[in-house]
Order: sequence, then structure tokens, then C-alpha cells
Amino acid sequence: TAQHETHGFQTEVKQLLQLMIHSLYSNKEIFLRELVSNAADAADKLRFRALENDSLYEEDGDLGVKISVNKDAGTVTVADNGIGMTRDEVISNLGTIAKSGTKDFFSKLSGDSARDSQLIGQFGVGFYSAFIVADKVTVRTRAAGAPADEGIEWASEGEGEFTIAQINKPARGTEIVLHLREDEQEFLDDWRLRSIVSKYSDHISIPVQMYKEEVPERDGPDGEKIPAEPGKWEVVNKATALWTRDKSDITDEEYKEFYKHISHDFADPLKWAHNKVEGKTEYTSLLYIPSKAPFDMWNRDQNHGLKLYVQRVFIMDDAEQFMPTYLRFVKGLVDSNDLPLNVSREILQDNKITQALRQGCTKRVLGMLEKMAKNDADTYQSFWNEFGNVLKEGPAEDFSNKEKIAGLLRFSSTQADTDAQTVSLADYIERMQESQDKIYYVTADSYQAAKNSPHLEIFRKKGIEVLLMGERIDEWLMSHLTEFDGKSFQSISKGDLDLGDLDDEESKKQQEAAEKEVEGVIERAKAALGDKVVDVKFTHRLTDSPAVIVADENGMTTQMMKLMQAAGQ
Ligand code: ADP
Ligand code: MG
Repeated sequence: TAQHETHGFQTEVKQLLQLMIHSLYSNKEIFLRELVSNAADAADKLRFRALENDSLYEEDGDLGVKISVNKDAGTVTVADNGIGMTRDEVISNLGTIAKSGTKDFFSKLSGDSARDSQLIGQFGVGFYSAFIVADKVTVRTRAAGAPADEGIEWASEGEGEFTIAQINKPARGTEIVLHLREDEQEFLDDWRLRSIVSKYSDHISIPVQMYKEEVPERDGPDGEKIPAEPGKWEVVNKATALWTRDKSDITDEEYKEFYKHISHDFADPLKWAHNKVEGKTEYTSLLYIPSKAPFDMWNRDQNHGLKLYVQRVFIMDDAEQFMPTYLRFVKGLVDSNDLPLNVSREILQDNKITQALRQGCTKRVLGMLEKMAKNDADTYQSFWNEFGNVLKEGPAEDFSNKEKIAGLLRFSSTQADTDAQTVSLADYIERMQESQDKIYYVTADSYQAAKNSPHLEIFRKKGIEVLLMGERIDEWLMSHLTEFDGKSFQSISKGDLDLGDLDDEESKKQQEAAEKEVEGVIERAKAALGDKVVDVKFTHRLTDSPAVIVADENGMTTQMMKLMQAAGQ
């Protein structure tokens, strides 16, 4: 008999299990989606590895998932013939959470189950969702290429621990047996399971099969005999890779479910774009914009990028070569007809086809955002609130799309008294005063600080709108953005601000008179401050404050200096 070793779950897994069982109750059927999704991933991984080593198929190349029910035992089994797992893989995949941002996630939980279940959804539940409906889960798996006696059995009741044993498993792949809880027996119903599969897993590219029990011989309506039908496996999903299908045949629901499968996100996407490109380079792209930023959005090491397929064959996850960093929130896939099947990350790095695909995908995303901004301002605003600060990295990174990206930016401004970033540069230009030729802005540590900047006084007085920038990234953004729609940007805290035609004759005269009056004061201030300053000047920009510190026209702004100091420069 097998030797069972007991292992403890990682603390976070224990917490996740507790939370999940209690807060995902109203959405419990998703366990099947998660398990089928994993089986499809396992098939993809096997196909990829078999490109180099055909023998991994072990003469069984028809990859699929089988779902079966044992009413007497009260179990549902999900079995695949995908890549399988080794002992070490089982222990780490089904005993820990490898995801980046895990710590951050757990620190955000509040104990309020409605809020937390939302958060868990965003975090993704995966395999552990099996415990929503099962009080015991047994996993039997054997990795492709490993001998039959290196099968592994993992079992757990979803509390603190799991057991591991070595078993004999001739069939390659993974079999997951759910021992349903007393009050979850509804999932033993064939019809119920079929409807869940078609609701959530129609788009899965491998066949999902369910066993149809034999129907005994029976009497027809006119007393004739209807012959018995033997039991058989039936394919219950469409089993074609969704992105290869015609756009017009795909429903929104299918697109949304497919998104959840590839992104491991729980929430619906905000928007998507599906395109087949023919011609010099041939590829299909399916790109999604999530509705919520993930927990590790700001972690630069975070995995991002698209799923790469070559001629329908899965090649790799997180191919970041196809998306610029400032669009790292985009999820989706590209399926290329031109790249070689044995393509590696190294080959992708310096490759003409990669370049073309990246440009194409970038254009698609920017186009999708432009369209959203134009036709559906509310949705665009919710996108901006989640991802705007990432998009602000764009002008520095992507010179060729600078103007397009600038058109997508949104800011706070003196026009509306709120920190909500809703003003586009086009809005600003439309409201510019007749003789105004510059876009004025101020950067500061926060929206509050920007809004209270003494530099604003003269602009308020003259009724000139100023963009208020209080995000860390804004300074970086503005050092790469020099103009938009032919209008140049002007920081109101830099150097001598010439308001040009915006100053009328009358006030110019007043200023000259005032300047004479304070001459002595300026001299005394210069003497007192000495080397600490470059210059002390008279200004007419202040209306209430007596003095202000400004940066040199050619130098860094004070905000940039603070950033550099913080970075230890
Ligand atoms: P995710 O799918 O987001 O990675 P899951 O919790 O669903 O997270 O699964 C955790 C890991 O367990 C997977 O990444 C995979 O490595 C492994 N795994 C789960 N199910 C299977 C399976 N059927 N075959 C092979 N590996 C699996
Ligand atoms: Mg999964």
C-alpha cells in the first residue's frame, strides 16, 4: 500500500480556502469552469512540449477532458490527458499560491464577506474552488514522460493539510475527484453539469466529454420496440479555439468566458477587440481590457504580455514582446502564421515579425481606447480611473504613438473643482482663451498641493484654465510631452512666465509701477539669500501670496528635484 505523507498548506492557502467557501457560495458552479480551464491549459502545455519530443504523447495524441459522475459514491470526476504533474509540481501547485501580489491581496481583506468575495474574484480562485462544493478532493496525476509507477495522489479535506502518496497511474494526465458536500448533490445531475459546461466552457479548444448512460430497450408510442442505446462519451462543448471562429458567430458571453479562461480573472472584461490580419504578416489577435487593475499593477516584475500561439499551437504565456509596457494591463493572445513553431523568447526579442505584431496590437488597443473615449465616455472614465496612470508612461516609451496617447490622457483642472481626472487635452484646447497659445499645467506632490499652488493665482484671476497634476508619474509624463495639436505645454512654475497677449496694457503699466516700488526689497533679499538662489525677481504672478520659489526655466521643476532626491540622486 502507498505511503501517505502529510503536508501543511501555506498560510495563505488556508486563508483563501476559508474565504472562498464562505463567500463564493452564490457562484459555486464556477468550480467546474476552473477545473476545465486547468485541463485545457495542461493540454496546451503538453502540445507545446511535444513539439520537441513527440514521445510525450505516449501514442495518445487526442487531448481532451472527461467529466463523469458516480451517484453512489457522490463524486464528480474531471479527468484530462494533458501534461500532468510531478511530485514536486503537485506540492507547489496545489499547496501554495505562487501568484505575485499575494501578500498585498491578503492585506486588503476586510472581513466583510460581500467586499471580500469581490476581491477574491479579482484575485482568482483556480483549483482551490473545488472546495466550494467538495469536502474532500483527490487528485491523481502522472506527468507526461514519467513511468506509470511515478503517479502521485494528492488528497485533502480543504482544512489545514493535504496528503501525498506515490501511486501507479498508467494513464498520463490528471484526474480530479470531488467528493461532494452533503448539500451539493445537485452537481451529480448530468443535465446540470452539461449546462454549466456550455455556459462556461464552450470556447475551450479541446473537447469536453461527458458520459451518456446506456438507454435500455423500450416501447415506442405505437407499441413498437425502440432498441437499446449503448452508453458512450459525448462531446458537450464546441471544442474549437474561440479566436479561430468567425466574429459574427461569437456571442458576448463567449468572449467574456474566454477572457476569464485566459486571464484567470474573475470579473468580466471592460472591452475587447478580435481581429484577423491577412497580407504580409498573417495573424489573429484577441485583446481584452480588464475592468479592474490587478493587485500587482505597480510591480514592474509582474508577468504581463499576451499568450502566444503559432498556427493554433500554444507556445507561451506572458509574451511581453507583443505589448509595450505602458499597455501592460492588456490581456489576450496573438496567433501567428509566420513565426516558427520552435520560437523562443530569445528569437522573439529581435525579430521583424514580432515588431510587426507588436505595432499591430498596439494600434488595436489604442484604437479601441479612442473609440471607447468617443462613444462611451463613462466606460472610458472607468478605464482611466483604473489604468490611466499606466497609460501616462506611454509618451516616454512610444514616440510614434505620442499624439494618439496624448489624446487619451485625462487630467484634473482648475475648471472643475475635483480631483477626478476627466479633462482631455482636446477639451482644454476648446476652452482656451482667444489669445492663449499654450497649455498651462502645474505639477505637485498631490492634487491638493497642485490646487493650492500659489503659481495659480494669476491664472485664476485671469480665468485661464490650468491642468492640475498631482500624481508621481505626471512629472515624468510632462518631461516627454512637449505639445499637443500644435499647442505647446507650459509649466506655470517654471521661469519667467510670459503671459504674452493675455496681459493687457493697463495691467502691464501697473506692474511696472509696482516693480519700481519694491526695488529696494529685491536688493535686500538678494543680499540676504546670497548663493542660495540664482536670482530674486519681481513677479506679477502672485495676487495673494507675497513670494514664491520657482525653478530655473531650463532646469528641473521643484517637483522633479524632490523625486530625484527621493531616489537618492
Ligand atoms: P492557475 O490556473 O491560475 O495557474 P490554479 O489554481 O487553477 O491556478 O492551478 C494551479 C496550478 O496547478 C496550475 O498553474 C498548474 O500548474 C497546476 N494544475 C492544475 N490543474 C492541473 C491539471 N489538470 N493538469 C496539470 N497541471 C494542473
Ligand atoms: Mg486555473
